[in-house]
Amino acid sequence: MTDAPPPIREIRINPIVPTESVLVATARGMRPREAEERVARDTRNQVDTCPFCRGNEARTPPSLRTYPEVGPWDIRIVENLYPVLGDDRQQSNLAFGLQQVIDGYGRHEVVIDHPHHGISVHEMRPGHLAQLFRLVQTRMGELYGADPRLSYVLLFKNFGRAAGASIAHTHSQLIAMPVVPQNLHNELHHSRAYFLRHNQCVFCSLIDEALTFEATIYDRQSGAVRRRIDVGQYLVERGERFVAIKPFASRFEWEVHILPLDHQADFLQTPGEALADFAAVLQRTMARLDWVIGGAQYNYFLHSQPRSNAFWDHATSFHWHLEICPRTSIPTGFELGSGLFVSTLSPEYAAARLRAVMLD
Ligand SMILES: [Zn+2]
Ligand SMILES: [Zn+2]
Ligand SMILES: [Zn+2]
Repeated sequence: MTDAPPPIREIRINPIVPTESVLVATARGMRPREAEERVARDTRNQVDTCPFCRGNEARTPPSLRTYPEVGPWDIRIVENLYPVLGDDRQQSNLAFGLQQVIDGYGRHEVVIDHPHHGISVHEMRPGHLAQLFRLVQTRMGELYGADPRLSYVLLFKNFGRAAGASIAHTHSQLIAMPVVPQNLHNELHHSRAYFLRHNQCVFCSLIDEALTFEATIYDRQSGAVRRRIDVGQYLVERGERFVAIKPFASRFEWEVHILPLDHQADFLQTPGEALADFAAVLQRTMARLDWVIGGAQYNYFLHSQPRSNAFWDHATSFHWHLEICPRTSIPTGFELGSGLFVSTLSPEYAAARLRAVMLD
């Protein structure tokens, strides 16, 4: 068991997007944030009334992609019945004064991750997960190829009601959109600026730091040790080609990011053998999270170099990654009003707790 660290109260600047910061306030007496209710998970393999279960294929739109292509499916991609973006309407661009509008054009698809209704990601075989991300890669390529108006294809997963999942059956979603999401845009912009200053990818620098950095910070007046930074302090899981890291300025208490160890901007260019390692790191990371927080409700989403022309020169400065954001508390008015996320758990302590989990 890891000892609780001394209390901290500090504003940490996001090293990738310096305009974003997080208040880490772990001091005793800090009012605990309202916790998300833990809901009992439906662990059944098959639910007759569920449109995403095997045998109920007629209740969803036809498959756009399946794996395997013949026989009982393991993974299916279908159109979303309630798309947030669609191509069904012909809208003209109406702009008036400050009310600028971009047409809500795009595609919205559902990836049924697994035939078993209530399975968690950490319970899926790594081979299955590798196949899942391979199929997603294929579909993303098709979406980009089909329409040059699409600037970004976002893969994300909502798991649990607190994370916005409306259908209990495990699934993720692909949204092909006419704009690059603002948070990704910020990462692209700032990592490019970092590259132009340092001739190095900021994500690669962070990985190097997480793997090798060791330092002691002394108080200038008293000479006392203010903070000791240990080797691998932010490391959660490591594979041959991927690493899971707890961000120094985590917005969510249990947030973890997975990145390729070798520089790679575009997820679509990640070869199959690397995806196998990615799947293993993801499965183990999710098992750690499940062990520590129990029945995690979370969102994960993939940030990769967009295919749109505006970002062609970001291949050296951007580094693709998966951000896993467990929902353990509800954002407060302070957070919404200030844009400053509050973390009541020190990221170093959270990383140590996750690392300490003994997996087989
Ligand atoms: Zn189901
Ligand atoms: Zn890099
Ligand atoms: Zn990101």
